Amino acid sequence: MKYALVLVNIKGLGVRTFSYLIPEEMKEIIQIGQAVLVPFGRQGLINAFVVGFSDYLPGDFKVKKINKIIDETPLFSIKYLKLLEWVANYYCTDFVTVLNAALPMKLIEKNAKVEQSVSFINDENEKLTKRQKEILQLLKEKGKSSLIDFEEEAKTTRSTMKKLENLGCIKIDTEYVYRNPLSIFKDVKTEPLFELSGEQITVYEGIKSKLKSQNPILLHGVTASGKTEVYFRLIKDVIDSGKNVLFLAPEIALASQLTKRLARKFGIKDVAIWHSSISDGEKYDVWQRLYRDEIKILAGARSAVFAPLQNIGLIIIDEEHEGAYKQTSPAPRYDARVVARRLAQFHQAPLLLGSATPDVSTYYYATNNNNLFEMKHRFNNSPLAKPQVINMQEYGRASYRGIISKPLQIEITETLERGQQVILLMNRRGYSTYTQCKACGTVVECSDCSIPMIWHASTKTLKCHYCNKEMHFPDFCPQCGSDALSTSGVGTQKIEVLIKELYPDARVERIDSDILTRKNAHIELLNRFQKGEIDILVGTQMIAKGLDNPNVTLVGVLSADTGFNIPDYRASERGFQLLTQVAGRAGRGEFKGKVLFQTYNPDFYAFQTAKSQDYEKFFETEIKSRQEFDYPPFSQIIRLILSSENQFRAEKSAMEIALRLNTMTEKFGFGEYLETLGPTPCIIEKIHKLYRFQILIKNKLSQKGHDFVSKFLNKITLPKDIKLAIDVDPLDIL
Ligand code: ADP
Ligand code: ZN
Ligand code: ZN
Repeated sequence: MKYALVLVNIKGLGVRTFSYLIPEEMKEIIQIGQAVLVPFGRQGLINAFVVGFSDYLPGDFKVKKINKIIDETPLFSIKYLKLLEWVANYYCTDFVTVLNAALPMKLIEKNAKVEQSVSFINDENEKLTKRQKEILQLLKEKGKSSLIDFEEEAKTTRSTMKKLENLGCIKIDTEYVYRNPLSIFKDVKTEPLFELSGEQITVYEGIKSKLKSQNPILLHGVTASGKTEVYFRLIKDVIDSGKNVLFLAPEIALASQLTKRLARKFGIKDVAIWHSSISDGEKYDVWQRLYRDEIKILAGARSAVFAPLQNIGLIIIDEEHEGAYKQTSPAPRYDARVVARRLAQFHQAPLLLGSATPDVSTYYYATNNNNLFEMKHRFNNSPLAKPQVINMQEYGRASYRGIISKPLQIEITETLERGQQVILLMNRRGYSTYTQCKACGTVVECSDCSIPMIWHASTKTLKCHYCNKEMHFPDFCPQCGSDALSTSGVGTQKIEVLIKELYPDARVERIDSDILTRKNAHIELLNRFQKGEIDILVGTQMIAKGLDNPNVTLVGVLSADTGFNIPDYRASERGFQLLTQVAGRAGRGEFKGKVLFQTYNPDFYAFQTAKSQDYEKFFETEIKSRQEFDYPPFSQIIRLILSSENQFRAEKSAMEIALRLNTMTEKFGFGEYLETLGPTPCIIEKIHKLYRFQILIKNKLSQKGHDFVSKFLNKITLPKDIKLAIDVDPLDIL
């Protein structure tokens, strides 16, 4: 062991690895994962991490010596690097790209000055910072001793929140208080776990009997069936046995809620949260505590799968069907579920997935492996609302502006009269969906992307939903010069306007990604909705998740067909999931709920099964068509996208790659099992000025096919003006 491979993060160069000589006196103590100081050109000494050793140099150059080991306690292990290496291989990307995504950058930056986060007050005698004292004083003044009480309070009093914000320790809106509640407060009274119901016990016992399984276990339970309480019981068993639990939620807001619930049940000291938005200081603290095995339960979003939790005894992934578990861009395009599965294997721990609308592949495997557990009733036995279908072919004409049908109007009126609340789903943002010239038919497209520009009444601009480019509404048609341009189609903004016209006295708000100019603005709106300060909430799929408001008794889906028509093999699955999830928001409390779907396609199967909320039936039909067309789970899809500003060159290199791949597969006799489709222009042909061509590889040879493709891809070199994106198990193929 002569040389150490170290990781550095240099401005302009990014994260890279370099070799350094290990001085004699360090040979005994140097370890993978340690922070070291190394000389680096004119920058002098910089921070680095040891990630490997070798006896040889990768080239002929003069090697410098490691200057110093900053901290003998490593920050990650060889096992950890092995996991990252596996991720790099699986997703056909390089190791450093994965490291880059997994390690908090502050840990490896030059002269990393870790900001002093509010540190953990575990010990009475520990010195408090001035700020902490101020906060504690504030709490005392308000007569609060526990975090939870204070939070409830803080939510209602803006000035208190402002004060806390000014203290600088926690950020912004209702979320901020418990963004990392665990860092400030010490004593939250823990509550006992609930007694499980009969159905919960059956499922709990069943899962217990499968904990040695190598394959993922699926808990398929309707919305509000009490899955979380089952998880908690399992978590208790695991931590009682001395092991730790990783618990993933699809997004930050849900992870925060979950952390709070966990802290109440298991005590704040044993719980930590991890997601991309916690501060670098917090990351640094949590990272070290994880590495020292001081945390028993880590809750978090996708990236928490890379946090160095030790001694894992159980991994839980809630709402496992959510697309947010997959990072689409940039690389590594990893799926936290896939990484978690590998992580579970490393620790010989079970992986438990939960959902009311499981991913079709997950369900398929769980059934085949006999690892499926189901809960079919809500915990409080409130019935699931059976959606009623409004056929817009019949009702369209009599509707308000052709969009809001009479039956929906009547239901809204009655719900408001009862003092109850309404959710309206319109899964397209903006005001209209396209702008067209009535004279020549031209649709106004983004100049950089091949998609229609969408009118946004709120900003009075046309916007591209891919690259965010904005333009004024043109006076004349760019094609024929006529002034007959008009907008068509419906988005959330238009619904908001129409609803306000119809119900001028109702308090109406809209949630979609356009309101996210302020971070977490949607969480604030959701909280106001929860408190009854909003009567009608209009929104995109952002409102379909997580809302548990017993006063919501009406859910209207304005255009239930949206989503089903997208040319993607997972369109039906996603449409079904969305409709089932949003329907699940109605009637969760003591009042009976109603759900109305407006559609032009009442007979479509995915739609019919969503209507009866019949997952099994949907699955049966869907899995047949997947099998017929060799889509997952009957194959693995590896998607290649070649893009360039030069359309011709992008197409040409895509053709070359497809041809070479075909020749290779034929030569090895894999042709039938490694199907290469394309190249074809992507459905969205141009994004950000880049023309895009795709090749889809359907791999029916599992690991062997994957290895073959990844070896092939490794050898590809492309001219500078052509980009290749490799997406293993892509979320969509648009
Ligand atoms: P899910 O995770 O399936 O959506 P939750 O676990 O959140 O459902 O449960 C729904 C509601 O029922 C929650 O308010 C929860 O506190 C309550 N609940 C679930 N199980 C129990 C139980 N065994 N005893 C008391 N309340 C329960
Ligand atoms: Zn025209
Ligand atoms: Zn664009």
